[in-house]
Amino acid sequence: MKNTIKKPSRDKKRINKKAPLLALKYKLTWLPSSHELRVDLIYTPVQPGSTVFKYGEPDFGGQKDILTSLKNIQVDAPDSFKLNEATRTITVCHAENKPVHIHYSVIDTRPRNHGPMEQLFRPILTDNEFSIHGINLFLQPLFKKMLNKDVLQSVSWEKWPENITLFQSVDPQNRGDTLITAPVDKFVNGLRVSVMIAAADLQIQCFPVDNIPVYAIAKKDSVLHTTAFQAYMSGYFSSARKFWNNYVDHYYFIILLPFLPPLDKTENIGGMGLQNGHLSKYMSDDKSLSNFFIKHFSHEIVHNWIGLKVYMDMHAHSWFNEGFTDYISWYILVREAFWDAENFVENFNKNILKPHYNSINKNIHNSKIIDKFWNPGEDNSLPYQRGALFAFYLDNQIRLKSSNKKNIRNLLLSIQQFSKNKNENFKLTQNDFIRLTAQFLPEKQVKKDFTQYIINGDSIVFSSDNLCPVFQVHYQNNIPVITAGKKLKNFYQF
Ligand SMILES: [Zn+2]
Repeated sequence: MKNTIKKPSRDKKRINKKAPLLALKYKLTWLPSSHELRVDLIYTPVQPGSTVFKYGEPDFGGQKDILTSLKNIQVDAPDSFKLNEATRTITVCHAENKPVHIHYSVIDTRPRNHGPMEQLFRPILTDNEFSIHGINLFLQPLFKKMLNKDVLQSVSWEKWPENITLFQSVDPQNRGDTLITAPVDKFVNGLRVSVMIAAADLQIQCFPVDNIPVYAIAKKDSVLHTTAFQAYMSGYFSSARKFWNNYVDHYYFIILLPFLPPLDKTENIGGMGLQNGHLSKYMSDDKSLSNFFIKHFSHEIVHNWIGLKVYMDMHAHSWFNEGFTDYISWYILVREAFWDAENFVENFNKNILKPHYNSINKNIHNSKIIDKFWNPGEDNSLPYQRGALFAFYLDNQIRLKSSNKKNIRNLLLSIQQFSKNKNENFKLTQNDFIRLTAQFLPEKQVKKDFTQYIINGDSIVFSSDNLCPVFQVHYQNNIPVITAGKKLKNFYQF
């Protein structure tokens, strides 16, 4: 099996052909007893006077006070720095074009009574393990005329402890003993971030899907290291790549770790999409790969496209990033026969239609959705439900209009193609979305539906007129209940 895996291409080779404009050289030291990562950064300035760096991103997990994790900043003389707390920027003033030395620490600042969000998004540093995202560890250079992919970053570890296993998502085979060199945007690029995980009982298994390696990173005896999980990935992940007709990634990784106690709120499982992979944390492991875990993994895998390669602003358009991700994950689950028609309608009726049409918040304006988004357990499910219902509705409209020749996949491929031609931090706007959808449906209708169902939050009234014949709908206490024909698998083909 092993020789069927293509070696991950090293960006180093590609980048070395043209001289990088700036090289950031990081040396990292882990100090377990003080719950701290010490960072030494050296670079030779390429712009006169000063270089500006940014730390952290409050939009990443709603961590508004993330700057508290950055401590003990020092810049060696004769150079100096200014920290702007409001913008989280460090302006390093350099006298001449000689190497600049910056030192700082990143510490664990989880509040005493923290929730799952803190464990997913903040630096976690304990006596014997850590978990940190590139966005909370490295400084992001801010340049007016330079793209971050043209800035080269190298990372090495000072005395990596022998008995601890390290996983670094930028270079999945690197265990901390050799230098990593890659463009800075592989470590930090807006919200498309990398991760580093270290623990003594971490196990990393690798298996091929579609000739690329998939890394399964978890504690010993995890569901991730079962043949059932490999079979799921072979079907689902391969199908997701086909759905997007996008094969640019040379590897994929899944990290599954338990939440550390204490937690003030219980959340069975939480996760986030990262560059080339995802990270999930759970309350109790599930050795049998239940439908609950499959549904969660399937959502996070679709984030490898929606939220990363096709992205709308998280504040304004979480309905797209979360709801479309849900709907496409169900699409692929039915296509690959992980779900039959019964599983599909059960999920749709129980987890979407019933709670949504029952919710007192269902009709709130789109601009208010983000207020609740980072409060799991409270009502953060609205963008998932509103977006998934709109995706289901649009899929049906496009199929009806095109006599089943087109569907939501054609729209998403068109959005992906449009996004591909833009710069690295491109976000699809509302107008882009409407214009691209109007390739498949009358523009007037798209505008009206978008304003009504996404912006104003009106409830969609499903009927036999706006659904394909495979679905039927009836209402129970004003809540739509969907049923689907046995041929649903044929419906969700491509
Ligand atoms: Zn999501």
